[in-house]
Amino acid sequence: MHGKIVKGIAGFYYVNADGITYECKAKGVFRKDNRKPLVGDDVELEVLDETKMLGNVTKLLPRKSELIRPAVANVDQAMVIFAVTSPAPNLNLLDRFLIMMEQQKLPCLICFNKVDLDEGNLLEGYRKAYEACGSPVLAVSAKDGRGMDELRELLMGKTTTVAGPSGVGKSSLINLLLGETAMETGSLSRKIDRGKHTTRHSQLMQMDDQSYIFDTPGFSSLEVMHLEKEELAAYYEEFGAYEKECRFGGCSHVTEPSCGVKQAVAEGKISRIRYENYCQLYGELKARKKY
Ligand code: GDP
Ligand code: ZN
Repeated sequence: MHGKIVKGIAGFYYVNADGITYECKAKGVFRKDNRKPLVGDDVELEVLDETKMLGNVTKLLPRKSELIRPAVANVDQAMVIFAVTSPAPNLNLLDRFLIMMEQQKLPCLICFNKVDLDEGNLLEGYRKAYEACGSPVLAVSAKDGRGMDELRELLMGKTTTVAGPSGVGKSSLINLLLGETAMETGSLSRKIDRGKHTTRHSQLMQMDDQSYIFDTPGFSSLEVMHLEKEELAAYYEEFGAYEKECRFGGCSHVTEPSCGVKQAVAEGKISRIRYENYCQLYGELKARKKY
């Protein structure tokens, strides 16, 4: 039987197969192969006890992908959630997240929640800033359900790692996504025991047989790793069209005169928010090189 590891705790692997979660031991094959099973791994299992839902993982199937932070296999995309307001989004953190995902070659969705609170049309500003960054921007409300169909569509058939600072409504959105699916399919058992344990283990949550959500813990300390300051501009996709206007080759777009990127910012063709985030990150990468 085929299954997917949705959780791993203390030598046990919880494997979802045909809508049932089996508690499994992994046999010695993994030690031999020197491969540690990860949450998200597709596996073969043998059922030892159908009523107690016990089994053995007998084979680890090839991985499509492997993330290091968080450690999870076969993720298709990442989604980062911010609130349009309460709390106000930290867009520098958003840029860091986008860079980190791009470094791991993972497509990213940007989701702004709490649009029901958006009285000053804040969303439009954020949309404008991020429309050219290469990642789609979604607007939703866990409170009144706005945008949820579009969001669900983008998650269907995929495994998505979901991240966001606390208070943005990540739990509300995830519960909504799982709850509605669970109601549709009439099977509440698909809802994994979120929050029952005092220690939260990273786990995959199942929307349907093909669609999983991975709740990524910890978001506050996003440090962009292994990046030279000269490489940073490549992560700002919208700069690309204007770099050929820079007078100096290898222009940093920070201090040089006659810079096409700075010109485009002045003319409103590149978002000032994005440019300022770039300058701040550039400064950090430059300072890091000194010691
Ligand atoms: P998390 O920390 O990101 O998991 O956020 P929670 O899901 O716990 O939500 C934080 C607070 O925001 C709670 O009081 C929620 O009721 C509220 N909240 C979540 N989504 C929305 C939304 O779309 N609109 C409004 N107005 N409040 C929301
Ligand atoms: Zn330049």
